Amino acid sequence: RTVFVNGEYLPETEAKVSIFDRGFLMADGVYEVTSVLDGKLIDFDGHLKRLERSLNELGIQKPAEFDDLLEIHRKLVADNGIEEGMVYLQITRGSPGDRDFVFPDPETTRPTLVLFTQNKPGLADNPVAKQGIKVISIEDIRWGRRDIKTVQLLYPSMGKMMAKKAGCDDAWLVEDGFVTEGTSNNTYIVKGGKIITRNLSNDILHGITRAAVLKFAREAQMEVEERPFTIEEAQGAEEAFFTSASAFVMPVIEVDGVKVGEGKVGPVATRLREIYLDESRKAGI
Ligand code: PLP
Repeated sequence: RTVFVNGEYLPETEAKVSIFDRGFLMADGVYEVTSVLDGKLIDFDGHLKRLERSLNELGIQKPAEFDDLLEIHRKLVADNGIEEGMVYLQITRGSPGDRDFVFPDPETTRPTLVLFTQNKPGLADNPVAKQGIKVISIEDIRWGRRDIKTVQLLYPSMGKMMAKKAGCDDAWLVEDGFVTEGTSNNTYIVKGGKIITRNLSNDILHGITRAAVLKFAREAQMEVEERPFTIEEAQGAEEAFFTSASAFVMPVIEVDGVKVGEGKVGPVATRLREIYLDESRKAGI
C-alpha cells in the first residue's frame, strides 16, 4: 500500500513520523475519514470544510490547500486500486523535537500530514445493514469540545470494547440523561414517522453524513426534529439508527437489551440508506 507522509508518497513500511510528534505524545491532532464508492470520494467538500474548522479551532496550520489534498486523495485511491473503502487523513501540530506542553512556534514546527487508504470491498452492500446492530449505553465522559474531530479516541475505543464484551456492536454515550452520539457516529430515533436527532452544539461531532442525510430526508418530505432524546425514548421508538462516513446509515435494533420497535430493521432507516447511497454515489468526485 502506498501512503502519503509530509509531501511524499511512500510504501507503508517506509513511512516515518518523529517520536516527538505531538500527535503521538499528546493526541494533538485532527483527522477526517472520507469514504470511497465506485472509486470516487463521497462528501469530500464537507469533510474538507470540517477539517479546516477543526484546524482553526486548535490553531494548527493548514499544511496544504484544498486542491492539493484532493489530488493526494485521488492519487492514493488510484494507486491503491480502491473501489470501495476509505481515505484516512490526519494532521498533527508536528514535532518540535522535544516534549513540552506549550505549543511550539509555528514558524519552526510544521504540522505533520499523513494519509492512507483502507480497502473495504462490499462497504455499500454491507449485510449488517440488513440485520441491524445492537448497542449498549455508557456514560459520556469525553471532553467538552466534541465538535472538533481530534485523534483523542481512547474513550470511544473503550466504549466499543465494553459493547463487544456485552455481546453488542457499539455504545451510545449518555450525558445528563440524554444521548449525545455513538462512539463514532451520530444517533437517531424515529417516532410517529418523525426523525429525531440531537441538535448541533459543542457536545457532538457535526457529522458530514448527518448533514447529508437530514437534507435528503427533508427533500423527501420526511419530518425532522433536532433535539436530544433519552435511552428510554429510544427503547420505545419505532426505529433507531446511526450515521457515519464509513457506515452510511446503520439500523439499530436493540438498545441495552430492549428491542426497538419489533427489533427489526425499519422502513425509515432502509429508505434513508438507499437515498444516501444513491445520491452520494452520483455526487462522488
Ligand atoms: N460522531 C463521532 C464521535 C464520530 O467519530 C463520527 C465519525 O467518525 C461521527 C459522529 C460521524 O461523522 P461523519 O458522518 O462525518 O463521519
